[in-house]
Amino acid sequence: MRIITYMKVAFFDTKEYDKKFFEPYSKEGLRFVFYDTGLSADTAELARGADCACVFVNDDVNAEVIEKLNTYGVKLLALRCAGYNNVDLAAARGKLPVVRVPAYSPYAVAEHAMAMLLCSVRRVHKAYNRTRDFNFSLNGLTGFVLHGKTAGIIGTGKIGSAFIDICRGFGMNVLAYDKYPKSDGIKYTDLEEITEKSDIISLHCPLTPETKHIINKRTINMMKKGVIIINTSRGELIDSEALLAGIKERKIGAACLDVYEEESDLFFEDNSGHILNDDVLARLISMPNVLVTSHQAFLTEEALEAIAATTVENIRAFFERGELLNEVTCRAKPQYEKTPAKSGQNGDN
Ligand code: NAD
Repeated sequence: MRIITYMKVAFFDTKEYDKKFFEPYSKEGLRFVFYDTGLSADTAELARGADCACVFVNDDVNAEVIEKLNTYGVKLLALRCAGYNNVDLAAARGKLPVVRVPAYSPYAVAEHAMAMLLCSVRRVHKAYNRTRDFNFSLNGLTGFVLHGKTAGIIGTGKIGSAFIDICRGFGMNVLAYDKYPKSDGIKYTDLEEITEKSDIISLHCPLTPETKHIINKRTINMMKKGVIIINTSRGELIDSEALLAGIKERKIGAACLDVYEEESDLFFEDNSGHILNDDVLARLISMPNVLVTSHQAFLTEEALEAIAATTVENIRAFFERGELLNEVTCRAKPQYEKTPAKSGQNGDN
């Protein structure tokens, strides 16, 4: 009987589309176990005996979880996403190396931002519902033209730059702010000018202590009446209560939200049979000028393929070659040597 070795990877918060794109890699030394449940202190035990835990944006990888994963023998945390604000990196330092997928399709997210903007300004969501009911009236569907309008982009990394290109294609003027500006033909300015002069503001910076509630009551007051706010980045960039107040006061013309600050208990799940406990989200969703999608901007064939390929390469590099590709924390003192795999029977992988 041939003895083979494999690395066991415990996937948390897994959806059907994750399985579809990861399963083809579940061979040649990798064994995947998919859990629907998210990772938290209560569920960390599921990773006992796994070499790697693989998580997504709303898994809560706090200090307690990291401690538990460490105790259970997990040697690598593989994020199958770009953002890592849900991981306590300070706690992970020296205990659990963390790797991520830094880019999987900036176009997917940038195109979704434009899809939401177009849907909102041309009232496509309203028209779709009406015509399904054979209501062909046009009252209340008057939109406006994007050509010549000013888009303010906060964060000009991979997604922000792709969105700028799209906006330019529509003949829009672009103002941009980035803490670390690049010199690539983008017209940079400060946050104040963006806030005051933009007809549309789109957020593409990461969530950090500095950017938390970068859109708040004060900045909303400074904005043009009728401004459209797009957030495909992270929910906590916007103070949701201030956003709701701005919409009620008719200051904000529309909000296109792919993310929401309290999304972790709601998004990615079917809650249609439940009473929504989040009054702010319920009120936002009830507004005719608010579009909400549940963190789906990335959700394209191209992005899912790239996420799976990079995640598997990150895992293989670590366990087979001792390399940390796409690391986001300091590496722990290695607890393993080459190929720290389990033994299994033939056909057990
Ligand atoms: P990126 O790292 O390429 O770009 C981020 C940019 O933000 C960088 O240019 C950086 O300099 C800038 N930045 C950092 N701190 C800033 C600050 N304080 N103020 C202004 N700018 C600042 O990242 P990306 O791939 O373009 O992704 C952007 C964000 O999009 C991610 O952080 C993630 O939260 C989000 N995202 C969302 C989805 C989705 O499905 N909705 C998918 C992928 C990424």
